[in-house]
Amino acid sequence: MLVYSISIYSWPVALLKTIEGWTRNFIWSGDIAQRKLVTVSWKKVCAPYEEGGLGLRSLISTNEAANLKLCRDLLHSNEDWAAILKSRVLRGQQVIKHHIFSSLWSSIKNEIPVIKENSSWNVGTGQLINLWHDTWCGIPLQQSLNIPQNVSIWLPQLVSDLILNHQWHIPPLLENMFPNLLSMVQHITLPVEETLDQLCWNNSPSGMISMKLAYDFKRKHYTPKHWAKSIWSIDIPPSKSLLVWRLMHDKVPTDDKLMERGCNIPSMCSLCHTHSESTFHLFFECNFVFSLWCWMASILNTTLHFQSIEDIRLLCDGSWSPQCKITIKAAIVNLLNSIWHARNIARFNNKQLIGRLHLLGFCLTLLSQVTKLLVLPLHL
Ligand SMILES: [Zn+2]
Repeated sequence: MLVYSISIYSWPVALLKTIEGWTRNFIWSGDIAQRKLVTVSWKKVCAPYEEGGLGLRSLISTNEAANLKLCRDLLHSNEDWAAILKSRVLRGQQVIKHHIFSSLWSSIKNEIPVIKENSSWNVGTGQLINLWHDTWCGIPLQQSLNIPQNVSIWLPQLVSDLILNHQWHIPPLLENMFPNLLSMVQHITLPVEETLDQLCWNNSPSGMISMKLAYDFKRKHYTPKHWAKSIWSIDIPPSKSLLVWRLMHDKVPTDDKLMERGCNIPSMCSLCHTHSESTFHLFFECNFVFSLWCWMASILNTTLHFQSIEDIRLLCDGSWSPQCKITIKAAIVNLLNSIWHARNIARFNNKQLIGRLHLLGFCLTLLSQVTKLLVLPLHL
């Protein structure tokens, strides 16, 4: 019901933000009313996996995309609803500027300029296309020929004025004023039969706008993240990958991150009790975890010197077989989760770390056996 409604009407942005806030809270805390301090921004959460998101759909972008698609449908459809609305809001090719009582029109009127800026005309009869201002043979002719507005209004206005018997025919007046005009339009092939002009969306091979294309147009884009493919895998439980995803966004709620968000707290690493806690210290610098990384590096016959969180991928960059790579990725993801688990146990349950160390050591020994089995054939 919600999706149907936002695909027809433009919802108040404040209301959509409130609903998205509840969704965000539920994802991070399990309670729509409880907000967490250190979280990945909602826009990034709504990006596709390969761009570092979780592939969720933003309601605001979905609403905008639905309005864009509906606007395009209005301009092209001959159904009753479109014919009635067009008779109320269009004067020729111009849109009315005064208010009318129509919930549909108020939803989509702002998308008309967006459609025109991102579409170009396929010439049919040319009766719907403005000769100077519309995009139909590359850049609008008024710009490419540099014609002042006060001149163009006295000239023929439609592309159909240049067509005679399905052939390009430049009137003598225009030919004298713009000698290059014929060569500029001649690369457009005219149909041999009477067909209507079609306004085609630029980013679509068919010229139509699907909901997917419209959403992709409206959403915020991020540069692809090289680590995204590494952390999400059918062989690794998503609940384990989620911590690594937060780590790659530097949004794990360690003491330094909480202090950045305004929490005035004393800080001490719960694993070594000798340093203040930061994300980088906890996962890479702490004496406790450093020995684990050295151990893993020795199995992989490499050396590690972490400069940043993204250096994790150096472990996976060797010429491993596909089976080895997935094992190494799984081992890294589980190692990071074990560190975070050990830290939380030590901090919140005040449990002896030695016990956790033994458990962790057992898990890692198990992993090493599996890794050795996969690595050995490669070096034979
Ligand atoms: Zn430490």
